[in-house]
Amino acid sequence: NRQLTIKAEKLSLAGQLAASIAHEIRNPLTSIKGFMKLAQEDVMHEAYYTIIEDEIDRIETIASELMVLGKPVSLEIEVCDAGKMVRDVCILLQPQAVMRKIDIQYKAIEPACFIRCNAGQMKQVFINLIKNATEAMDNGGVIRTSVQSDGETVRILIADEGKGMPEHVLRKIGEPFYSTKEDGTGLGLMVCFTIVEQYNGTIKVESVVNEGTTFTIELPSAYT
Ligand code: ADP
Ligand code: MG
Repeated sequence: NRQLTIKAEKLSLAGQLAASIAHEIRNPLTSIKGFMKLAQEDVMHEAYYTIIEDEIDRIETIASELMVLGKPVSLEIEVCDAGKMVRDVCILLQPQAVMRKIDIQYKAIEPACFIRCNAGQMKQVFINLIKNATEAMDNGGVIRTSVQSDGETVRILIADEGKGMPEHVLRKIGEPFYSTKEDGTGLGLMVCFTIVEQYNGTIKVESVVNEGTTFTIELPSAYT
């Protein structure tokens, strides 16, 4: 039975995710516990406080990145203007981009492209992708975003001129906690893939090392 198989796969995916989150949160917790013990034994050093704080920050970041995956049933699903959402996110991220000599451009190809989703979740997808784009561009440049529709499918493009990804990175992106960044959580893309899949959409990636990366999100149009 096909449906059963899909369910089982989903369950094991949730299980896998739970296991990696548990693992990832256990490390800082163990470290916090250790340094707290030192504090009790009265050999507390100033630097230990910094370590404890950093480890708590790490858990906080993980928790807040995962928050957006909240129960779909309890989230409000509306018809949203994808173009407006992407434009809003571009404006939101522009100040950080400018500091890195990056220009985020938005181009509406159709007047309005509507999708059915929770606005907060979908904005988070765009935020995660555009943030990654800015983080991939060390020497400045342009990030081009666009939204178009053929009536059936809404297509959102986010293209950067960044460092790109070699094959071995491309293979692993989206796996929970996979990151090549020193302070990365490796949760951004996992969250994007999970949310887009939840709305029956797909994410495609094209990347050329030292040239750039293009993410293409396709979602069913709200009016077909
Ligand atoms: P994080 O940003 O915390 O590292 P993500 O899940 O957002 O986690 O991304 C995972 C990895 O995918 C990044 O560490 C990076 O190596 C790679 N990546 C994602 N987006 C891009 C991009 N636009 N250009 C180059 N590499 C990228
Ligand atoms: Mg990221």
